[in-house]
Amino acid sequence: MKTFALAGNPNCGKTTLFNALTGSTAHVGNWPGVTVDKREGVYRGGSEKVNIVDLPGIYSLSPYTPEEVISRNFILDEKPDGIINIVDATNLERNLYLTTQLLEMDVPLIIALNMMDEVEKAGDSIDVKALESAIGVPVVAISALRKKGIKELMDRAIAMNSERKGVTVLGKSLAPKIERAKQFFAATDVSSPLFHAIKMLEGDEIELKHAGAQELFNEISAGQDMEAAVADERYTYISEHFSAAKNKKEKAALTKSDKVDKVLTHRIWGLPIFAVILLVIFHLTFSEDLLYIGAIAEAAGSPLPTFEDIGFAISEDTEIYENFGIALAACFYDGAVFSPGVILTNLLNLVLGYISYGIGLGVEAAGAADWAVGLINDGIVGGITAVLGFLPQILTLFLFFSILEDTGYMARVAFILDRIFRRFGLSGRAFMPMIMGFGCSLPAMINTRTLADEQERTATIRVIPFFSCGAKLPILTAIAGGFCALVGFDNVDLITYSMYLLGIIVAIVSVIVMRSTTMRGEVPPFIMELPAYHMPGFKNLMLHLWDKTKHFVKKAFTIIFASTIIIWFLQSFRWNWTFIADGSIQDSILASIGQFIQPLFTPLGFGSQLNEYGWVFAVAAITGLIAKENVIATFSVLAAMFVANFEGTEEGVAEAIVMIENTGITAPALISFIMFNMTTIPCFAAVATAKAELPKGRFGWTILFWLVTSYIVGTVVYTVGGWWWTLFIWLAVFAAIGTVIVLNNTGKIKLPSLRRRKG
Ligand code: GDP
Ligand code: MG
Repeated sequence: MKTFALAGNPNCGKTTLFNALTGSTAHVGNWPGVTVDKREGVYRGGSEKVNIVDLPGIYSLSPYTPEEVISRNFILDEKPDGIINIVDATNLERNLYLTTQLLEMDVPLIIALNMMDEVEKAGDSIDVKALESAIGVPVVAISALRKKGIKELMDRAIAMNSERKGVTVLGKSLAPKIERAKQFFAATDVSSPLFHAIKMLEGDEIELKHAGAQELFNEISAGQDMEAAVADERYTYISEHFSAAKNKKEKAALTKSDKVDKVLTHRIWGLPIFAVILLVIFHLTFSEDLLYIGAIAEAAGSPLPTFEDIGFAISEDTEIYENFGIALAACFYDGAVFSPGVILTNLLNLVLGYISYGIGLGVEAAGAADWAVGLINDGIVGGITAVLGFLPQILTLFLFFSILEDTGYMARVAFILDRIFRRFGLSGRAFMPMIMGFGCSLPAMINTRTLADEQERTATIRVIPFFSCGAKLPILTAIAGGFCALVGFDNVDLITYSMYLLGIIVAIVSVIVMRSTTMRGEVPPFIMELPAYHMPGFKNLMLHLWDKTKHFVKKAFTIIFASTIIIWFLQSFRWNWTFIADGSIQDSILASIGQFIQPLFTPLGFGSQLNEYGWVFAVAAITGLIAKENVIATFSVLAAMFVANFEGTEEGVAEAIVMIENTGITAPALISFIMFNMTTIPCFAAVATAKAELPKGRFGWTILFWLVTSYIVGTVVYTVGGWWWTLFIWLAVFAAIGTVIVLNNTGKIKLPSLRRRKG
C-alpha cells in the first residue's frame, strides 16, 4: 500500500483534508499547532487503497521546533511514496516558502491548492495551469472543507511517478556553493543530497553533525550569514515567479480582516473585549434571566410574575409528575425567560426525572428488597442522572468555545496573551494548550509537545488543569447554584464566570512563580500567523459537540456508574457489613472514612468546623480524584440518605442545597470548595497523561504542586471570604514572597521581543 504524507503550514487545512480523505474525525481547529503528532488513516476512494499521514503544521523544514523535526524526519527516514503539500490559496506566497524546500527532496510531490472556495468567494482567481508549469509538479485546486477536487487530487497523486529528483529554485550566486555541498553529500549514502546540501549551507545544526560538514560549511560560508541569504532568495524567487499566477483582489479581503483585528487585538482593549465575550457566553449558558429583564424589572420595583404569582403551585411532586404542561412551561420561564443553556438543562432534567421516576415505580412494583431499592434509586439512577443532567450546559458552553476557535478568534486571544505574558516567562505557544484545557486536560497536555523548552512545557502542563474542563462544570454549576440560594444572589452566571477567571488567574500566578524559581528559562520567540477569520463550519461544530457528548455519556455509564455504586455501598453499610436501613448514615463506613480525613480541610472551610455531617465535602473532594463528575454524583447519592423522602433525581443543584442545609457550610467555604476542586490533582486520566508527558523526575513534584496550590487557594478564598481583613495578611505574605523572587531574578530573565508576521 502506498503512503502519502500531508505537509503544509499550520492552519492550511491539513486535518480537514485528512478527515475528508480517511473519514476520521480528528480535531480541526482554526489556530496553529493543533496537530502535534503524526496521525494515520486510509483513503479508500481511489483505484487503490493508500495510507495517509497527517504531519504537524510547519513553515519551514529547519530544525527549530519539534513539529519541524517530526515532519522532516518522517519524510527523510520513512520515505513516503509522495508528499501532498497543502497550500492555502488565500496565502499563496507565504505557503510556497515551504513548497520550495519540499521541492528539494527526492520525493514525488503534488500540491493541493486548498481554500479555493475562499478565493472564489473573494472574487479572486488563480491560474492553476500556470502555477503547475512554473513549479513543475502537479497542482490541483481543492476545497477540503467543501470536499471539492479531492478525488482528482488523489487520482493524480496515485498516478505520480514513483521517482522524483529534487530541484531547487535557488540560483545565481548560490549555485556554485550548493553544487560543492551537494557533491559532498552525494559521496555519502544519504538520500536527497540536494536537500541536505542546502540545509547544510543554511548552517542547519543537524546537517553540520555529518563528519567533515562543519569544515566545509566554514569554508563555503566564509563568515557570511548563509541562512538569511538562502531565505532571501527563496522569497525573491516566489514573489517574482508566482505572484503572476494569482489574479488578486486579495488586498480588499485582507483589510477587512485587518480592520476587525485592529479592534479585537487592540493593545489595551483586546483583553477586556475577550473578558466581555466570555461573560456573554457564560450568561447565555448559565443565566436564568436571558435579557436581564427580570433583574431590571425587579430593580425598578415591579418584578415579573412568577408561576406562583400566576396561581400555579409548583411543588416538588406536582411539578414533574402530575402537571406536564406547567412542568414544561417551567423549563422556559419563571419570572424571566431562561437562557438557552438553562432551558436545555431543564428540558433534559424533565426527561431524566420521568425516567428515574418510572424506574423507581418499577423497582417498587417488583417488590425488591430495601437495599436493592436503595442501590438502584439512590446509587445508580441518582448518581448517573445527576451527572447527565449537566450535559446541555457543557454542550452549550462548548458550542460557543468551538465557534470562537473555528472563526479564528481564539488564535487572536493567544496573540493578545502572548504580548502580555511573555514578560512573565510564557510564550503564546503555551496558551494554545491552555485554552484547549477548557475542553479537556488530556489533549491539552499532549499538545504541549509543541513547546521546545522543557521548563516551559513542565510549567504549562502543571497549570492546564486550572483551565476548568468540561467535567468540572457540574461542580461549578451545582455549587454555585447552592451558593446563590444560600446568599440570595440571583446571577449564577456571574459566579461561574468569576470561578473560571479565578482559575485562569491562579494559573498565571503559578506560572510566574514557577518561571522565576524552579522552572526558569528563556522564552522562545513566537512567530504566529493569525489565521483569516471565517464562518465556522456547521459540520465541524457538530463533530466537536458529538465528540464531547460521546465522551461524557460513556464516562457517566462507566467510571461514574462504578464510583456511585461503590459510594452507595460505603454509605449504606456499617463496618460489620450490616445494611443501614434506618437512615443512620453516621454509622456507615463512608462516614468514618470521611470523618478521618475531614480535619485536613479545616483551613479551607469544609473541615472540622462543619456539623456532624460535614464529612460529605471531604468525601466528595476525594471521589473527584477519579473523575470530577463524581463530586456531584457523590452529593446525589448522599443527599438521598439525608432526606428520606427526597426523590434524588431532579438536578445536582438541589442536591447541593441539601448538602448545604445539612452541614452548615458557609458561603466562602463553598467558593473555597469549588476552587479547591478546580486546582487540585485533576482526574485520574489527566494524572496518567501528565505522567507520560512530563520530563523525568517532574511527576512527583507536579502532584505536590497541585496539592499545595489547591490548599493555598482554598485557604485564601475561605479566610478572605469570611474575614475580609485577612486579605491584608495574605497580601503582605505574597508581597514578601514576590519581593524575594524579584530580587532573586533581576537581570536574569532575557526578554526576546515578539515578532509578528501576518499573511
Ligand atoms: P491544519 O492546522 O492544517 O490541520 O488545519 P485545519 O484542518 O485544522 O483547518 C484550519 C481551519 O481552516 C479550520 O477552521 C477549517 O475549517 C478551515 N478550512 C480547512 N479547509 C478549508 C477550505 O477548503 N475552505 C475553507 N473556507 N476553510 C477551510
Ligand atoms: Mg491539524
